Amino acid sequence: MQTEFIDRLLTCVDCHGQFVFTAGEQIFFLDKQFKNDPKRCKPCKAKRASVGVRAPGTPATAVARTETRTECSECHIETTVPFKPTQGRPVLCRQCFQGKRPAAAVPAVISSANPVSFELAASLGDSLSVGLQA
Ligand SMILES: [Zn+2]
Ligand SMILES: [Zn+2]
Repeated sequence: MQTEFIDRLLTCVDCHGQFVFTAGEQIFFLDKQFKNDPKRCKPCKAKRASVGVRAPGTPATAVARTETRTECSECHIETTVPFKPTQGRPVLCRQCFQGKRPAAAVPAVISSANPVSFELAASLGDSLSVGLQA
């Protein structure tokens, strides 16, 4: 089987210099389901990543190495997280994390005047529906 990936030359939006988007990086991007090509060369990316993340004076190369390789607790793909995962705590990849957010954002306030919220209360499986029947 032949790979379709070849090194590409892209232009950095920050310094307008050209940089190589290697075949290996393209495979990585596809694997992570990134939709867009990288916009910046590595030095510019490192410069941006270091802004406000680390104390000034930390070399950019050190910043780039803070990611920890781990496995997503949800879909079990390999992912990297910008922190050291705590044992026993689930680690989610970006996609699963974003999939989780709407559920976590469900408001705790339930208004009986709102039929959507009533449905929500019922789906939560508690006894809130008792007494709401006319
Ligand atoms: Zn650049
Ligand atoms: Zn996942």
